Amino acid sequence: MPTNLKLKDEYEIPRERMVTLLREHYKIADGNVLRVMSEVPRHLFVPEALKSQAYKDNALPIAANQTISQPFIVARMTELLELAPESKVLEIGAGSGYQTAILARLANKVFAIERVPQLAAEAQERLQKLGIQNVTLRCGDGTNGWETYAPFDGILVAAGSPTIPEPLVNQLEIGGRLVIPIGQDQKSQNLIRVIRMPQGFQTENFGACAFVPLIGEHGWRNNQ
Ligand code: SAH
Repeated sequence: MPTNLKLKDEYEIPRERMVTLLREHYKIADGNVLRVMSEVPRHLFVPEALKSQAYKDNALPIAANQTISQPFIVARMTELLELAPESKVLEIGAGSGYQTAILARLANKVFAIERVPQLAAEAQERLQKLGIQNVTLRCGDGTNGWETYAPFDGILVAAGSPTIPEPLVNQLEIGGRLVIPIGQDQKSQNLIRVIRMPQGFQTENFGACAFVPLIGEHGWRNNQ
């Protein structure tokens, strides 16, 4: 993990404001999550024309009709993963690569999957430019997980699924956490955390959220 990400750039003030909002309004309490969000330059993950909006409290459009998640959602999902420096994480729906960068700063190794080739290529390039070396990213359907590198301490899915994809829970380490938006409607979900226990699974609901659809074999079968 590079240690020189803390940039002195023209976005330092809005970035600090974003972190203050996360801490004070959204009650994000994990100091490590807040620290990495003050370090990663979010403006480098949004389209050029939207740079000035990069630190606002909302999702923004990226290529291929997809979105970069709202900073609060990134912080909340990351916090729910309860990562440690030695953690191995799987991320599904890398999109811009912003969430990937956050995970890479907190975990030992991140495996990321993105379905849209253009987004996967751009995310890869951004991560490389930032000197982030502990990410392996591939293009494909993430609903099957990534058996080669399983089991994972954490799995984060950044797109909404009608049901919990079976391969993902099977690729969790005992004590491992899956954080995923689940909803029968393609436009609204609940943020769900599944923890793999020695016997069975524990499921918690963290409330309403809205993500783009998870499209694949164990998600939505098409983009209707
Ligand atoms: N964390 C990303 C969110 C991107 S939006 C960010 O903040 O930039 C969700 C992403 O999931 C989209 O890029 C979409 O293409 C991707 N996606 C949807 N279904 C997928 C699947 N089955 N496998 C991998 N990625 C998928």
